Amino acid sequence: GYRSRAAYKLKQLDDLENVIERGDTVVDLGAAPGGWLQVAAQNVGPDGTVIGVDLQRIKPFDDDELNDRVETVRGDMTEERTRERVIEAAGGSADETAPAASSEPASGPVDVVVSDMAPNMSGEYSLDQARSLYLARQAFETALELLDTGGDFVVKVFQGPDVEAFRADVEEEFRYVRATSPKASRDESSEIYLIGKGRLTAPVRPGD
Ligand code: SAM
Repeated sequence: GYRSRAAYKLKQLDDLENVIERGDTVVDLGAAPGGWLQVAAQNVGPDGTVIGVDLQRIKPFDDDELNDRVETVRGDMTEERTRERVIEAAGGSADETAPAASSEPASGPVDVVVSDMAPNMSGEYSLDQARSLYLARQAFETALELLDTGGDFVVKVFQGPDVEAFRADVEEEFRYVRATSPKASRDESSEIYLIGKGRLTAPVRPGD
C-alpha cells in the first residue's frame, strides 16, 4: 500500500500529463512520508532514480527494489545548503563519463522536479496561502537550477490572488503549463497543481 493518500494525486497528475517515465531522474520536494516517492520509484523503474527531500525524516521502504532507486535528503528547501545537497545528490546519478558542456545543468540531468510542499497550517488562510506560494516559488527556483531541457515540473500551490503571476512566470520557462485539481485532492479544495511541460532551455552555470 501507499504511505499517503497523496500518492493518488501524483498518479492522477501523471496520467494527465505523463510526467514520469522509465529511466528518469526525479527530484521530489516535500516528499515525506513518501507516497509520491513510491509512485515515482515504480514509474522510473530499475534504471531510474528518485531523490526525496523533506524537513522530516523519510523512513526506508519495505521494498528493497524501491530503496535502491530512492535517495533521501533531510533539510529545509528554503535554505541554500539544502538545495546544494540536492544538486549533489542529483549529480551522483549523472552519466559521469559525459563531458561537461556549458549547456548542461550544474547537476546530472534531472528529468522531473515535483513539489508537494505545504506549510504548517496556521488556520489563517491568507497566511497559509502566502507561505504555500513561497514554497512553490522555492520549488520553481530549484527546478530552474536542476531541470534538463525538455524536463517537466509539477508544483502544488494554494489558490489565491498571486497564483496567476506565479503561473505566468512558470509559463515563460516551459512549452506549456496546465493547472489542475486532481480528484484525490478535491476535499482539500484550496490546492491546485501546476504542471509545466517541456522546459525550454537548460540552466546556465554562473560564470558561463
Ligand atoms: N507528497 C508527500 C507524500 O506523498 O507522502 C506528502 C507531502 S506533505 C503534503 C507536505 C510536506 O512538505 C511535509 O512533509 C512537510 O514537511 C514538507 N515541507 C514543508 N516545508 C518544507 C521545506 N521548507 N523544506 C522541505 N520540506 C518541506
